[in-house]
Amino acid sequence: VNADGDLLDAARRANQDLVPLAVARSRVLRGRSPLVAVTMPTASALGCVTAESVVASVSVPPFTNSAMDGYALRADDTAGAPCALESIGALMAGSAFEGSVGPGQALRIMTGAPLPVGADAVCMVERTTPDSAGRIVIDAPVRRGENVRRAGGDVMAGDEVLSAGDELTPGALGVLATIGVPLVRVHPRPRVGVLSTGDELVGPGVPLAPGQIHESNRAALLALVTQANCEAVDLGIIEDDEERLSKTITEAARHCDVLISSGGVSVGDKDVVKSVLDSLAGDSMLWMQIAIRPAKPFAFGEVGPTAVPFFGLPGNPVSAMVSFELFARPVLRRLAGHARLERPIVEAIADERLERRRDGKLHLVRVAARFADDGRVHVRSAGGQESHHLHAMAKANGLSLVADGDGIEPGGVVSTMILDEASLAGTALEAALSSGTAR
Ligand code: AMP
Ligand code: MG
Repeated sequence: VNADGDLLDAARRANQDLVPLAVARSRVLRGRSPLVAVTMPTASALGCVTAESVVASVSVPPFTNSAMDGYALRADDTAGAPCALESIGALMAGSAFEGSVGPGQALRIMTGAPLPVGADAVCMVERTTPDSAGRIVIDAPVRRGENVRRAGGDVMAGDEVLSAGDELTPGALGVLATIGVPLVRVHPRPRVGVLSTGDELVGPGVPLAPGQIHESNRAALLALVTQANCEAVDLGIIEDDEERLSKTITEAARHCDVLISSGGVSVGDKDVVKSVLDSLAGDSMLWMQIAIRPAKPFAFGEVGPTAVPFFGLPGNPVSAMVSFELFARPVLRRLAGHARLERPIVEAIADERLERRRDGKLHLVRVAARFADDGRVHVRSAGGQESHHLHAMAKANGLSLVADGDGIEPGGVVSTMILDEASLAGTALEAALSSGTAR
């Protein structure tokens, strides 16, 4: 047993010990490796990670062609331009020219059409004028190779276009299409079952009886799972009933790669979730108090004959989401084959005081982060910081990591995990986008 194991054993025995975040994270990641590769249609593989390299068997472009609408000609003929050339026809993209372009001749050519034999350059149509004799007048000399796209200029047959471990981005899917690859070896999307536990929970649209609440964790967690490019499996709301809970988890462990529950893992919770998981996961089940706020309670174990990782997230809605970010998401990314498991973390500037008390925990402060005109990311509190303040969580696009102490002063630097990169865009980005055209 390594140091993590010792620490966790201690935490398990003395339930009130605070487990450092890093220790718990390395425990949940330990022994996890990417799911066994499958062959998938390229078109369905967005966001998946390649399990082997992809080598092009063809060159792109497959033939030398015109980069412009214009005239294919011999560059030497235009050395003394303006000059008039004989027009010998026209060639559209999708066809090939049977003849060749001889000295003193020009062939009308469209973008993407193969460069005809004899020609070594294309004069763009804007630099030409027909004369009264039906010839084409070229305004200025054209360089050899001008407006010509060489065969293999993008990809050469034999090039490795993707390495094992690359994420299939929209650009990568485009490259695979352009080299004619319809199937790709990838790690499959992990199937992730999500369930909510609690007698007080009812689904959306159901009128509330006294003491009941509308349940929100499933909606948020299923969305986080989908956003992580995994296959989300909705296992529903399970009331605090041992038999139903046990049956649902046992069955789900047969067809899911990961299981996630929320609720029932705090100290003093009704014992149902605990006793069911202790019996299903046996010795592997760890009940932890993590040295963070929110999301202190956390349970982890392995269930079923294939030892499916089980994440018991806290019930409070913000805690459930934060716990997912810190523990479940890195594991899902590992199973999916990613090398980078973490959200990006930037050194941001606090535009206001980020309050906290000294309590031995790392605080994850929900913040609104944006790029400011100085090119730095700046943060402000997104609102209420209690673990049931879901509305403020919804307004946050980052979690500032405020270490134990007295908080961050205005203007201070704070490491901030970015939950939604696209939403960082501030006025600086708009300025950059408009600077290209505002001449
Ligand atoms: P528990 O850990 O089960 O005691 O839950 C802690 C708090 O979170 C309680 O106020 C629960 O009502 C609430 N809670 C638990 N599960 C959910 C859920 N799925 N959606 C919204 N709130 C929940
Ligand atoms: Mg509960």
